[in-house]
Amino acid sequence: TLKAQNGYAPLNDDFDNFYVRRLKLRLDDCFARPTTGVPGRFITLMDRKSNDFNRTYKFTGTYTQTLNMSSYNYLGFAQSDGPCADAVEECVRKYGLSSASPRADSGTNDLAVEVEREVAQFVGKPAAMVFSMGFVTNAGSFPALVSKGCLILSDELNHASIRIGARLSGAVIRSFKHNDIGDLEAKLREAISQGQPRTHRPWKKILVAVEGLYSMEGTMVDLPGVLALKKKYKFFLYVDEAHSIGALGPRGRGVCDYFGVDPAEIDILMGTLTKSFGANGGYVAAEKHIIDKLRSTNAATLLGESPAPSVLMQILASLRIITGELAPGQGEERLQRIAFNSRYLRLGLKRLGYIVYGHDDSPIIPIMLYHPAKIAAFSHEMLKRKISVVVVGYPATPLISSRARFCVSSAHNKEDLDRVLAACDEVGDIIQIKYSTGLAGGA
Ligand code: PMP
Repeated sequence: TLKAQNGYAPLNDDFDNFYVRRLKLRLDDCFARPTTGVPGRFITLMDRKSNDFNRTYKFTGTYTQTLNMSSYNYLGFAQSDGPCADAVEECVRKYGLSSASPRADSGTNDLAVEVEREVAQFVGKPAAMVFSMGFVTNAGSFPALVSKGCLILSDELNHASIRIGARLSGAVIRSFKHNDIGDLEAKLREAISQGQPRTHRPWKKILVAVEGLYSMEGTMVDLPGVLALKKKYKFFLYVDEAHSIGALGPRGRGVCDYFGVDPAEIDILMGTLTKSFGANGGYVAAEKHIIDKLRSTNAATLLGESPAPSVLMQILASLRIITGELAPGQGEERLQRIAFNSRYLRLGLKRLGYIVYGHDDSPIIPIMLYHPAKIAAFSHEMLKRKISVVVVGYPATPLISSRARFCVSSAHNKEDLDRVLAACDEVGDIIQIKYSTGLAGGA
């Protein structure tokens, strides 16, 4: 345990509670193994050895290549070959690596203008703006959209970047039960009834914030349900499509595409460029007047570095492949493969007797381990079979809701997924995590 120094509590005192101390031990095992190379279909882990109880590691100079079920590489654009890599390589030579200033200082690079035009068109909104980080897109946008006197109703499982952005805005924040339309309506009624009946007068604005796909649960927003309430209660709607853009819908255009909803019905479509596009950064797409307001008032882009040119080029190239403008046919094939892979692995895991969370079409597939002690066991056993998975426990989930997550990619083929299923079959028996009776040969 850490001792107080000079009469003050140690800086990381709050971090040092019982369960987190255990987690710190976890930080030293396979999850935190350094990797090298491309986080694509495979991921290469650097081998290391520990010789003492202080867990000081030495690299052995050898590497282990594992099947990568742990990266958000939905459409396989994390690869460093193919048309994207060619375009990016040329871009580095032409533009260098850094944008070397915020846009407000030395101007906007032509690639950023082009990305914003194409992203807006892709998601079906009149305008868009890019940010250099997905996290900062949320953290910077909320304070520019809402302020003191406004109310944010936030899904209880919304990402930390949404919660931080919401807090920075100064608005009142209330959360509603995850994806629970009844609870959202109850919270709306409660909020509205605090003033004149059926008006928003107690609040300058009400903004409802949800995600398209939730990365810990694999659940999909009940968009039709939320939109029905929007018609009735006239709030503003913010949808974070970090995990759904590119990964959902017949044309990869996210939840609107998936549900056949007109994007005009959603006020703010936010997304990250990290996951489906193999790049970095985030975007907000909305009516032009909202984007103009965001540009002129959010600190993240006014005072923060704009995205690197090569990152912008990666976004452009992958976007153009998805739409079919570049490498015709390839985008369509990637979209079909992610849809197939997501359903195939999910169904296979259910058949084995795993408790699988989330929506049938979600490329994030969580299986429940429940017991915290099974976290390391599952990860180690999978790693022995040369498969990398994400395992999640307290404090990211409640203590007894530990889970493992498979992130499916269109870079995986059917043999890869069969390998995962065979490994899960063995490991599930060894550490006893086949909690359900399975689908008994049914669908
Ligand atoms: N929103 C959601 C829903 C996320 O899951 C994440 C990160 N996984 C972010 C925003 C932040 O994006 P980035 O990692 O690109 O900064």
